[in-house]
Amino acid sequence: MKDERYAKNSLRQNTGGIVMYIDMNSFFASCEQQLDPILRGKPVGVCPYESPNAAVIAVSLEAKAMGITTGMRLMECRQICPQLIIRPSQPVKYRQFHVKIMNVLKEYCGDVIPKSIDEAVLNFTSYKLIYKDFISIARQIKSDIKQEADYLKCSIGIAPNAFLAKLATDLQKPDGLVEITVENIDEHLKKLQLRDLPGIASGNERRLRKVGITTPLEMRYASISLLRKAFGGIVGYYWYCRLNFYEVDLHMNKTKSMGAGRMVSADQSASLQTMEALIISLCTRLEQRMVKQSVFCRQAIFSVRYKNRGDWRELFRFANPLQDATELRNYITGRIREYELLCFPHTVINRQVLNINLTVYDFISENTIQYNLFDNRIQQDKLRKIMYLIKNKYGKNSVRKACETIEPDVMKDAIGFGSVRELEADDNGNGLNNFLLEE
Ligand SMILES: [Mg+2]
Repeated sequence: MKDERYAKNSLRQNTGGIVMYIDMNSFFASCEQQLDPILRGKPVGVCPYESPNAAVIAVSLEAKAMGITTGMRLMECRQICPQLIIRPSQPVKYRQFHVKIMNVLKEYCGDVIPKSIDEAVLNFTSYKLIYKDFISIARQIKSDIKQEADYLKCSIGIAPNAFLAKLATDLQKPDGLVEITVENIDEHLKKLQLRDLPGIASGNERRLRKVGITTPLEMRYASISLLRKAFGGIVGYYWYCRLNFYEVDLHMNKTKSMGAGRMVSADQSASLQTMEALIISLCTRLEQRMVKQSVFCRQAIFSVRYKNRGDWRELFRFANPLQDATELRNYITGRIREYELLCFPHTVINRQVLNINLTVYDFISENTIQYNLFDNRIQQDKLRKIMYLIKNKYGKNSVRKACETIEPDVMKDAIGFGSVRELEADDNGNGLNNFLLEE
């Protein structure tokens, strides 16, 4: 029965692509084990700071095997595994390994897209005449990464499109190597639940079940119209494509938003000055990223989450597109002060703060910014650009804005879990943001 449907389906499949997906296993924790051999073979958790309420943001393979998962609170981790070793996160070190790994990948393929600090996609489609056997290329990549850092392992997936290649990395961990082909895809899908597919969480699962699709295999053989009905339009068509080997995910999408967030410890929330410094660090991080991408933002959202689960959230629309960290900070602190005056004795920044987040979006390219005739912002914007050029060349501490000198310890940066694009050379061939790789 399946074969019949399959034969019909194969006419409409596109198997021309060759995509490789690399996912580093337990990346942050493995980096710690790479840097300190004492940690190897032991359960290790990485935390932004140490407090019973803090959550581990990465756990070693050994800790995973004992049932500890990312996001668990330290208290809970200790109950499961009293001998768990906790290390504070070292974002700069992780970025340095990221760059090393990307350089290995670029030796093999000119089309490398880093997806996050520990994941990348390689589009080998135009290399089909150059390489005969992509399984052995994957093995070589693994051994080259081992040369750079012998304790770092990765799972590699190969498939005709990026979605299936990513799915293939999930099928074998750690140190996996799986190729999904037209011949074996059904065998693989048979063993999976809907939620095992990247991008299918509870919401999408519900949508699929509503139209009678309960397994990945049923999803693969569903018609375009049924999937469109499930997802409500074009998204359904994309899902049809993904499971039928068409590429719909491999294009560098322009950045739509940038975010930075910080967990706040009890000690930090007790000090207004420290909290102020944390807010500045978020603004500075986003300023760096906007400068690198040559964009200004027109909107921002600042939010504070509290231990009792409530939050305080403010939306900003800027009359003039904005890039400067100090301006951004002034808007935020201004709004906080306004609120606190109006809603006395309520405070925004208090001991209940769990984390703070800032997102900037609605970008405009720096080339299209219109300056008012007598605006001194032109000078400021130029100065900022030059400051970053100097930082890039001579190190991040070569120049500092006055606001960056408050409590330098708290300026410890937020981890680039998401975007790592700022580490890449830009279209003009300018090098990476070296200051992001420095202590
Ligand atoms: Mg990973």
